Amino acid sequence: MQAFQLVETPALSRSTVDRQETLREDPERLIRRWADARVVVVDPRGRTPARRSGVESGAAPLSTRAAADLGPQPPEDASLLGEWDGVDYWMVPVDEPDGLGTVEVDGGWGIRQQMPADDDEVWLELRGHGALLDDTSAGLLTTAEALRNWHRRGRFCACCGGPVVRTQFGWATRCPGCEREEYPRTDPAVICLVHDDVGVNGAQVLLARQPVWPPKRYSILAGFVEAGESLEGCVEREVREEVGVEVRDVRYLGSQPWPFPRSIMLGFAARADEGAALRPADGEIEEARWFSRAEVRAAFAGENDELLLPGRTSIAYGMLRSWAAADS
Ligand SMILES: [Zn+2]
Repeated sequence: MQAFQLVETPALSRSTVDRQETLREDPERLIRRWADARVVVVDPRGRTPARRSGVESGAAPLSTRAAADLGPQPPEDASLLGEWDGVDYWMVPVDEPDGLGTVEVDGGWGIRQQMPADDDEVWLELRGHGALLDDTSAGLLTTAEALRNWHRRGRFCACCGGPVVRTQFGWATRCPGCEREEYPRTDPAVICLVHDDVGVNGAQVLLARQPVWPPKRYSILAGFVEAGESLEGCVEREVREEVGVEVRDVRYLGSQPWPFPRSIMLGFAARADEGAALRPADGEIEEARWFSRAEVRAAFAGENDELLLPGRTSIAYGMLRSWAAADS
């Protein structure tokens, strides 16, 4: 029996776009290619139009706009996302769409939202609907959201407090006051699937729920890495703090960007004693319990009303799915 691994690439780690880092320093080439470039427009709520016909099959392409329609050159607030299939892709913030109807979009496992739509397009948002996009679109929108959220929160210099200006087509800022340069930041967070010590992959998984979640939704444990802390140390501390359990054999599974506003989720598996007593942290964890593989498999099959799984876009979903597909 092999230790389980992720069975597929996490939804937001899919990307086909060449980021073309060197391009960011070649404005002449970028501006020359602008006329044929495509633009991912994103509204203030992080929503972008996608082809409505692709949503049901779970591989919707984004409905990008012709860059030439936005003007002869990239606007001030445009960010370069990269190149794919010979075309440059940019992100440009836009106002909320106006005068459209709405349609209910099912992001899976109880996540349903009314989104702006017309006959051809539906506006989607990454956190709820990232798993409904095709690979290229998921990669484009993940980078677009990461840059949008960074710029929204990074308007002032962390050193002298003065307003910053955008440089490198959205990939840096510079402070005219003290010349400090800043690049997009990402905060590491760990997420850990804790199973018991039966066999190689355990017979039960430890799940917990936060008080703000819908009833019966459970997920695996997660938390931010603290200053000066290793990832393994963070896994051990978070599980101890949240449910009072000691873990061992911490091993890395995979990662995905989570730009809400600026995290990367680093996925781990770890073992704990079978039937270890659980002490949920006051206020943070409403309930924690062990679930058998059969209970988790039944939830994935839509046959377990007592367990609502994490959203399909989250790495937690992929980690649980991979664990459920393995044997102990
Ligand atoms: Zn400054």
